[in-house]
Amino acid sequence: MPSSNQRKRVLSGMRSTGKLHLGNYVGALQNWVRMQDQYECFFFIADWHALTTDYADTSKVKENSLEVLLDFLAAGLDPERCTMFIQSHVPQHAELHLLFSMITPLGWLERVPTYKEQRDNITEKDLGTYGFLGYPVLQAADILIYKGDFVPVGEDQVPHVELTREIARRFNQFYGKKAPILPEPQPLLTPAAKLPGTDGRKMSKSYGNTIMLTDPEPVVRQKLKTMVTDPARIRRSDPGNPDVCPVGDLHKIFSSKETMAKVNEGCRSAGIGCIECKGWVADALVQVLQPMQQRRKKYEDNPQLAWDILEAGSAAAGKVADATMKDVRASMDMSLE
Ligand code: SF4
Repeated sequence: MPSSNQRKRVLSGMRSTGKLHLGNYVGALQNWVRMQDQYECFFFIADWHALTTDYADTSKVKENSLEVLLDFLAAGLDPERCTMFIQSHVPQHAELHLLFSMITPLGWLERVPTYKEQRDNITEKDLGTYGFLGYPVLQAADILIYKGDFVPVGEDQVPHVELTREIARRFNQFYGKKAPILPEPQPLLTPAAKLPGTDGRKMSKSYGNTIMLTDPEPVVRQKLKTMVTDPARIRRSDPGNPDVCPVGDLHKIFSSKETMAKVNEGCRSAGIGCIECKGWVADALVQVLQPMQQRRKKYEDNPQLAWDILEAGSAAAGKVADATMKDVRASMDMSLE
């Protein structure tokens, strides 16, 4: 393994929204686990970001952060191979966020696609706050404070990384005339497998269609039993098509080639029933989830172990953040020394 100073640095975070589901695993965590040896990785729990939409009641924030960390560890993130930390324990992020908020034009934030989309779609909360409009600025601070080389993202989040790059550029134009202070990170496009929820829509907590990483085997099997299938298969004797069936999508991600061949043949010829087919995908899911649940148990039984990991990670991240803030303050003639 190359030493940490030869490896490129990767930065990514997840909001502290509580226990994670299979969509979080396939869309992000699984890739993070693979990256641990290839890159110098910083993965953080974004508890301040959770406040941008859920600011009124903070009673669950800490508990939710712990649940996210337990799922990080369950999925295979290893504190010996990556740095895991909690955003609010590295307050330097807030200082850089404030400085960026001085230089970021409002128009840049108003045109972020998710801003308008979420304001239109989330009607039960008042999102007309300064914090919600400014969350991409906080995101830019989260990334740039580590001078990250790469940010692993799906296609839909590329505009966020682009905004971070624009903020870095603008900062460097103002304060880094001799040499850029903040390097522009690149998006690292991660394979975006289509992971449907039990109702066939994208798996998401807000749709109530999730399979959680902590779901025990009987719950996984029960959820799959009720999962929607190819609507053309009304009767057992109707042939179906795994390419238009959400259960087929799960097979493509989790099942072996042999099982996939049986599904393709059996579904298209009506040789198998959907119940049998769902049983096979449940088998594959249980194989993925059980080792995670075993790893998680050690920390569930002793949450202090998990908090210790976060504390050590936050201290290590704080050192890097501090060094960047020294450069930033010096470049703006605002050194504390
Ligand atoms: S047999 Fe499987 S892939 Fe085919 S429609 Fe039923 S659940 Fe979907």
